[in-house]
Amino acid sequence: MVKITALETFDVRFPTSLAHDGSDAMNPDPDYSAAYVVLKTDAPDGLAGYGLVFTIGRGNDIQTAALSALRPLVVGRGVADIADNLGAFARDLTGDSQLRWLGPEKGVMHMAIGAVINAAWDLAARRANKPVWRFIADMTPEQIVEQIDFRYITDALTPEQALAILREAEPHKQARIAQLEAEGYPAYTTSPGWLGYSDEKMQRLAIQAVADGFRTIKLKVGLRMEDDLRRCRLAREAVGPDIAIAVDANQRWDVQTAIEWLKPLKDIGLAWVEEPTNPDDVLGHAAIRRGVSPTPISTGEHGQNRVLFKQLLQAQAVDLIQIDAARVGGVNENLAILLLAARFGVRVFPHAGGVGLCELVQHLAMADFVTITGKKEDRAIEFVDHLHEHFEDPVTIAKGRYLAPTAAGFSARMHEASVRDHLFPDGIVWKDAPKTAVG
Ligand SMILES: [Mg+2]
Repeated sequence: MVKITALETFDVRFPTSLAHDGSDAMNPDPDYSAAYVVLKTDAPDGLAGYGLVFTIGRGNDIQTAALSALRPLVVGRGVADIADNLGAFARDLTGDSQLRWLGPEKGVMHMAIGAVINAAWDLAARRANKPVWRFIADMTPEQIVEQIDFRYITDALTPEQALAILREAEPHKQARIAQLEAEGYPAYTTSPGWLGYSDEKMQRLAIQAVADGFRTIKLKVGLRMEDDLRRCRLAREAVGPDIAIAVDANQRWDVQTAIEWLKPLKDIGLAWVEEPTNPDDVLGHAAIRRGVSPTPISTGEHGQNRVLFKQLLQAQAVDLIQIDAARVGGVNENLAILLLAARFGVRVFPHAGGVGLCELVQHLAMADFVTITGKKEDRAIEFVDHLHEHFEDPVTIAKGRYLAPTAAGFSARMHEASVRDHLFPDGIVWKDAPKTAVG
């Protein structure tokens, strides 16, 4: 029997703060990082599973330690047992009573559990020689329902209701797979809009984004109201009336501040306002949504679990939601969130960027299109064009669209040299880094 023989962890960091890549109102100097995990096996062909938690620097060592804490729950298990019962595996990890005390189902430990669950999906999909989106698409509705822990969400979505949604999609699956492979999935880009960029750089990158085929761009906002108004106007000037402009406040405002701040931006015709306030504040989001209507409100990249998403939907607090592949309890919990969104008829704009988040979340959006909603042209996956070169199967973007991955797995495996060179603090990149980027 092939077994998991090791759970290896790596503290991988990139000195992105040097160029303000990724800078926003709450995070002025992120060093994009991955707490990277590898599930090794004794399979003769070297089969392994890869996963990661995205962080922005300090604390990546804590996240890595949380991954290590899962070692006793994983090492020694049979690969077939995990791969054929991913729902049970996910429930075992999230349900470990002593570790659960640290959440429950939120924060550092839950993110680590999510990364190990995602690594198990990567392993299972590699073993089946399919990309994860296709691995999910080839499951029956019953098998997909088995992946999901419905505890705490049956007041909004029962297994029977989930099954009904999935069964409705079933006859269209093959046509949708062909459509996805031919057309790809729409992307939007945040690359022009980092807060640390000059007006000139923002406009130049916005024009370039449109030339590259993107139909939506996103700007970071929330530091100074007059700067936001000027930058949004300059962006509108640069891209014209037909391109959607979204803004992202990264949790900057109190509820009333958000409402006041957004009033002068009304004329820009924003596609959505992302993370206006604290991600846990369900009623606050609902108040902001009412206060700035009809401007759409979105949140979710810091949403800790399916319970929070359930409440956001129940309270009609958001117009859109963002899922994140590396914050909740892996593929399983994201399937629950996607089905909740479908049940409430709310569109999903997956959060990406960071390190490897584009690579991971594209699979979930594509699985949603094929197996759940059948919709993709009224939504888009975030795209940020950096750090993809460190991945073995980086995303492919063409004419503003993600092309469906064809390689087996979850696209989460990094090049060994990238991991080695960026290990913190002893990798060659950090040994040579200027002091300003470290610490
Ligand atoms: Mg965001």
